[in-house]
Amino acid sequence: MDIGSTATKAVIFKDGRPVARWAMPTGVDQRRTAQECLDAAIATLPGLPGLRGIVCLVATGYGRSQVAGAQRAVTEITCHARGARMLVESARLVVDIGGQDSKVIRLDDNGMVADFIMNDKCAAGTGRFLEVMADRLGVPLSEFGRLWRRAREAAQISSTCTVFAESEVVSLLSRGVAREPIIRGLCDAVADRLVGMVRRVGLVHDVVMTGGVSQNEGMRLSLAKKLGAKVIVPEESQFAGAFGAAVIAWELAEADSRPGARACACAPCVRRFGR
Ligand code: ADP
Repeated sequence: MDIGSTATKAVIFKDGRPVARWAMPTGVDQRRTAQECLDAAIATLPGLPGLRGIVCLVATGYGRSQVAGAQRAVTEITCHARGARMLVESARLVVDIGGQDSKVIRLDDNGMVADFIMNDKCAAGTGRFLEVMADRLGVPLSEFGRLWRRAREAAQISSTCTVFAESEVVSLLSRGVAREPIIRGLCDAVADRLVGMVRRVGLVHDVVMTGGVSQNEGMRLSLAKKLGAKVIVPEESQFAGAFGAAVIAWELAEADSRPGARACACAPCVRRFGR
């Protein structure tokens, strides 16, 4: 399970393969949201004997300590790295943009975390920034990609601060600038921040974009343009963290059933059990 600041996701594995997934907004009561999300995922599998059918539960994300019954809480960095690598085998750089944070993770040849950087201090460069702007423009986020493609150029958004950028958007609208170039300018502004983070960990290929914001086609286009690189968005990109948690849970369950086997390849397990 991935209890994000904005969305909670559950992925269930059976025989080493994903068989169910569910996502819902993270409510005020994270413990309750986690339970509801897991119940909803389980309900999609009529053959599963409810919670008793879950052999091993691993939690990640901002609210990972709030998941009742979790055998282990694992960091988002480890889970996003594992999940991205599972969704795209060739992934070497993961750009994850969530509701209230963003992270860039560089992987080594074996898919292990080589370096990472995270921004969870400021809304700029996160989904929240885009949500505020979408609201101000009266355009649903799902429309950003279509309108981005219609823009001939990007409006200049010089501030990365959400509050000041919102004032800039208001000012652009009052000067009669159309929404298309504003949307492109906003996506470029978020991408600029991400590119700064990529530079700090080093650009390697393939670049994979995950997190809910990866569903925003305008963001993928801006990031690809600013990086000068192809950016892959796997189909279930928003579930990457939950996929990573499920892979680790699967490996832990396997290790439990085969005494002596190595538990999993995440950093805490490697430290505890060796390579
Ligand atoms: P977290 O794990 O940090 O809670 P997610 O990775 O699930 O967050 O991403 C949530 C963000 O993704 C929100 O800001 C939301 O607006 C954005 N998002 C989700 N779906 C879409 C979509 N279809 N198009 C654009 N943005 C989306």
